Amino acid sequence: MDSNSIRHSPLAMDAETFRALGHRLVDQLAEFLESLPRGPVTHNESPSAVRDALDLTGPLPESGMDPGPLLERTAQLLFEHSLFNGHPRFFGYITAPPAPIGIFGDFLAAAVNPNVGAWTLSPAATEIESQTVRWIAALIGYPVDCGGLLVSGGNMANIVCFMAARAAKAAWNVREHGVVGDSGRRLRVYVSAETHTWIQKAADLGGLGTGLIRWIPTDATLRMDVAALRRQIEADAAAGDVPCLVVGTAGSVSTGAVDPLPHIGALCKEYGVWFHVDGAYGGFAAALPEVPDDLHGLSLADSVAVDPHKWLYAPLEVGCALVRDQEALRATFAYHPPYYHFEERATNYVDYGPQNSRGFRALKVWLALRQVGAAGYRKMIADDIRLSQAMAEAVGRHAELQLTTQDLSITTFRYLPSDLRSNVGEPSVERHLDALNRELLDRLQRGGEAFVSNAIVGGRYVLRACIVNFHTARADVEAVPEIVARIGRTVDAELRPRSDQP
Ligand SMILES: *Cc1c(COP(=O)(O)O)cnc(C)c1O
Repeated sequence: MDSNSIRHSPLAMDAETFRALGHRLVDQLAEFLESLPRGPVTHNESPSAVRDALDLTGPLPESGMDPGPLLERTAQLLFEHSLFNGHPRFFGYITAPPAPIGIFGDFLAAAVNPNVGAWTLSPAATEIESQTVRWIAALIGYPVDCGGLLVSGGNMANIVCFMAARAAKAAWNVREHGVVGDSGRRLRVYVSAETHTWIQKAADLGGLGTGLIRWIPTDATLRMDVAALRRQIEADAAAGDVPCLVVGTAGSVSTGAVDPLPHIGALCKEYGVWFHVDGAYGGFAAALPEVPDDLHGLSLADSVAVDPHKWLYAPLEVGCALVRDQEALRATFAYHPPYYHFEERATNYVDYGPQNSRGFRALKVWLALRQVGAAGYRKMIADDIRLSQAMAEAVGRHAELQLTTQDLSITTFRYLPSDLRSNVGEPSVERHLDALNRELLDRLQRGGEAFVSNAIVGGRYVLRACIVNFHTARADVEAVPEIVARIGRTVDAELRPRSDQP
């Protein structure tokens, strides 16, 4: 072979080296994943300690290095300085552990590297994404002939649906003329006080402005007050504004509350308003027959956002936007005239979302769906919900804990010293309990024994344990009350005003 036929690129790697480094990395990962439950959930380190340990303060290297030691050392550093959402006692936020087959999925997707913006650039990957979207719809009971695509997460999935509502419901061509139509009418969106912060980002990015969001109050169970929603829509319409979109939440981020979706859906139909459901957390629970009936109301929605990197256990990132009318989604983002269709209709995902080049996010989701099937997911989600209920029972039995809520797989509670039980509600006691639980949470999170987050329920600061974790077992759940109470006792003794002490 003449020397012109082989190019020596610094990044190129021969098959032998690729194989050896890959095997070594897989060995390291297998050991890491196996040992994870025996270590802490997180390491208590400051940002500067992490920077120093990883040696991240140096300049851009001028020359390179041997990839073998580089990979091996980097893996080790990540194992030593990360928070592990794959730990069985990680109950924070709604961040799930990755399915092992999903890890392989991302690896395989990166190696083939299709650009899933255009069918021609990604024949197999585009078709796999289409099937994944249909299967996700089928799993939650949504029409399988809907439009949809995979995006980076719940926020983006909700924002895509928001943009679809904006394009469909404005009484003018909002894509061309902008949000203040020729007539000066304004678009209004309706959400409950418990809606996730994506709505502010959407209202801002979509040009409506956060000031145009109508925050509808919730009832005692933190569900949208539908009578208040009706009054607000009527008032806005009477004032000449355009009621554009109502957001119902299928599993609120704080407590897992499910809005009365069938009622909201009926109201939206009556007034011709787009009905969107944020199911980023709870949407996949609609796969279960035994969940609250309201949850199945997501099948009525014009659009639904779900988050496969939550209850489908796909490695980050992947969210999914579903829009009942496929053409409405296309009409939100495409810049081709609608009559520009090929003989055999091929999907070019660039027309269905804000991205141009797109990665093969579908593979990790599709592989996991095929590995365990709908039944596998129904079992895992039902188990998480049962474990959360068991945690609530264990909290309820503990003399120093107060249970606040239990919904889907979220339990909220707080540390409440037994001698203050009869003083709950007194302002000075409530202030003490807020401060106590704040400090308790900080210590619990830094300690690494278990990881929960927080919520504000009824104005009170509470601890919040969310189980979207297929590694969690009964013993993990039952260990939580005493871990929390032990830290609570210490903090209480430190914070209690001297005069209160016996
Ligand atoms: C998690 C969540 C989001 C945001 O999803 P990301 O994947 O974090 O972008 C939005 N809404 C609800 C109800 C959620 O639980």
